Amino acid sequence: MKRSLFPVFFLLLTLCGCAKTEQQTIFAMNTVMEFSVHDKAAEDTVARMTQRINELEALLSRTREESEVSALNTANGAETPISFEVWSLLDTARALTNATDGAFDVTIAPIASAWGFAEEAFRVPSREELNTLAPLVNSDGITLAQNGGTYLASLQPGQAVDLGGIAKGYASDCIADIFLEDSIKSGYASLGGNILAWGGKNDGSPWRVGVKDPSNTEALCGVLELRDAYAVTSGGYERFFEENGVTYHHIIDPATGAPAESDLLSVTVVMDREDTLLEGRCGSGTLCDALSTALFVMGEDAALDFWRSGGYDLDLVLVTADGRIISTPGVAFAPVEESGYSYEAIS
Ligand code: AMP
Ligand code: MG
Repeated sequence: MKRSLFPVFFLLLTLCGCAKTEQQTIFAMNTVMEFSVHDKAAEDTVARMTQRINELEALLSRTREESEVSALNTANGAETPISFEVWSLLDTARALTNATDGAFDVTIAPIASAWGFAEEAFRVPSREELNTLAPLVNSDGITLAQNGGTYLASLQPGQAVDLGGIAKGYASDCIADIFLEDSIKSGYASLGGNILAWGGKNDGSPWRVGVKDPSNTEALCGVLELRDAYAVTSGGYERFFEENGVTYHHIIDPATGAPAESDLLSVTVVMDREDTLLEGRCGSGTLCDALSTALFVMGEDAALDFWRSGGYDLDLVLVTADGRIISTPGVAFAPVEESGYSYEAIS
């Protein structure tokens, strides 16, 4: 009797449950995002990641009227109920303003708008206009409270928050939770300059991540080797406009209300990932994002002092305006010689 081989094949396929690599590129949070997951059920994991990013954008966007951030920004000082995760992110952001001597401050929103960065309607505001807005930049104006199970936030009238310097890092923490929940061994996420290397590559080698040359963004100035780590780069080259031959970039120095006149072209912050679920709390991805923005504002000397002070377990790659690359000892970084930078590895 001739039997069909189909059930046998089907059984073998089911038993084998072969792992595969699933990749997905999406545009969200104003940037290109890419996920790569190696697993038997990689498609499901990637689908959950995409869904989570869309949820976060709906909460955190400053330009979407229905977001929680917009509700807070338009409440004119009134207490606003928000989710635990937005509350937790504001709490972390406020703490990082203190930790960075004010270099990172999400209440920069009215100034960022005056320069047209949020709305992409670029203009150069007058000094008088910036001076009028300056008192609104003050994270002490963010009040966070809890009432039973309800999380509440309020700002001072006229204040607004812009989470553009921290939200993608928080999103990478949320993606890490999905990697962990789904017991994935190998994958990565790239959220517009925010990298999460989950494990190593499928062949066991570390992920290799290029650091863009800030003077020529088509090229790399170096390569990082990462395993179970976050790496986040901030630089003025990422968003800018030109007027009358002057370039104005999107990272604002809260002390001046103008694009930071940094002696750095880019800052990359690297931290290890947590191996516990964060469940809406902020982790190392969030820290890397906020700190890369802050250290760019601070400049070379203060950034290295911050690193030396050891308050956070982080490593740095700095690209300076006078043509040097500096890396700290805990990071595996190889410069690209043709990029023309001199290279110092701090010991
Ligand atoms: P990043 O690309 O992470 O360095 O963040 C830059 C974005 O953060 C800008 O596009 C603004 O939305 C916001 N931002 C600009 N300056 C600051 C600052 N000093 N502190 C906090 N957020 C900022
Ligand atoms: Mg940032």
